[in-house]
Amino acid sequence: MISVEQALEFVLRHARPITRSIQTELSHALGCTLAEDIASDIDSPPYDKTQVDGYAICEADLANRKPLRVLERVVAGEVPQHKLTPGTAIQIMTGAPIPEGCAAVVMVEKTEASENGAAVTILDERVRNGMSIMRRATSMKRGEVVLTKGTKLRAIEIGLLAEVGRSLVWTMLDPAVAILPTGDEIVPCDEVPTAGKIRNSNSSLLGGLVTQAGGYPTECDIVRDEPEALLAAIRENLEHDVILLSGGVSAGVHDLVPAALAQAGVKQIFHKVNLKPGKPLWFGFFDRGEFLPPCLVFGLPGNPVSGLVCFELFVRPALQKLRGEPAVGLEQRTATLAQDHPHRGDRPAYWPSQFDATTSEVKPLAWQGSGDLRALARANALAHFPGGDKIWSPGEEVNVYLLPH
Ligand code: AMP
Ligand code: MG
Repeated sequence: MISVEQALEFVLRHARPITRSIQTELSHALGCTLAEDIASDIDSPPYDKTQVDGYAICEADLANRKPLRVLERVVAGEVPQHKLTPGTAIQIMTGAPIPEGCAAVVMVEKTEASENGAAVTILDERVRNGMSIMRRATSMKRGEVVLTKGTKLRAIEIGLLAEVGRSLVWTMLDPAVAILPTGDEIVPCDEVPTAGKIRNSNSSLLGGLVTQAGGYPTECDIVRDEPEALLAAIRENLEHDVILLSGGVSAGVHDLVPAALAQAGVKQIFHKVNLKPGKPLWFGFFDRGEFLPPCLVFGLPGNPVSGLVCFELFVRPALQKLRGEPAVGLEQRTATLAQDHPHRGDRPAYWPSQFDATTSEVKPLAWQGSGDLRALARANALAHFPGGDKIWSPGEEVNVYLLPH
């Protein structure tokens, strides 16, 4: 059986970045990755402008503390009508273009206007040349590249795109991920399960994980444990970048997924990984020709906790690579065990745990096996215990993987 590290290496070897892009309206582009360099179509600011509400004065009056004659008032959106000459001032509001002959703008708090507003006295001791003036194009020049391809768009970048007039931008397509639940016992979650049946929780769980990891999930219908049904469902979804099958990859008599994948032409890279939970994991790829990256196929174990662990260890890094991002997987921390924890067996465990970020303490949770999704709901991390029989003691250090919020 291969190790977690080897398995991840195999997965990443077959994961190739998706280069397809689409035109996206700016209002829908938050969180997307830019597929083009963005050049500004304007100088910003477009003119020399004042950064404060105050009075524009000319160089000859920088040190003048006698009343100056106020020529006019300019608000943002207007253009000054007068030119400043020695002994004059123009009242000007934040963002307005500065008048010709202006050397500095003195903020209103450091001035005293006469009763009728016709004159103003500067109170500021030191008025420097250029004070409170933002020069044309100091933020960006027309034609200058302000955002580069590959940038992840936050609200800040969305604002900047609006400033440079890009209401439509080319963004990278998210990896398309088909989620295929398998099993004769599985019923849709809006049904009441009859004897022997359980609800399909995996599609919802995996759909959420895919979305959080920047993929575009499609939840397919439940597939029965029948070779023809499985083969048809797999074939139908090979145009996706990734297929996540759930169930049918362990050693039961109804575990027909590996055979169906082989028949569909999906090449197996590995089946079974030395880890707990998640040992039955199956991975392979379908060649889509030279112009498309291969479709990556994961056969995830049916148990929800096993499925989650396999997703976080292998599928998330693969999706990161498909998105053209570093395949770093989940954020990891070193933590101190808050309680003892017995570990048996050669397989390394990834144990649902509660991690306290302020104390860096981690508490492995009690859970009733891989089907216990309820216990997992209290976890915010997976604690890693290397293989080997050992009773881990409080105070010992372990590595934890932080589950996304
Ligand atoms: P399997 O991997 O098919 O042997 O399934 C392992 C366990 O996971 C069984 O108890 C299944 O009932 C359960 N399981 C399989 N698929 C799902 C699913 N879609 N939602 C919830 N549990 C599932
Ligand atoms: Mg099954």
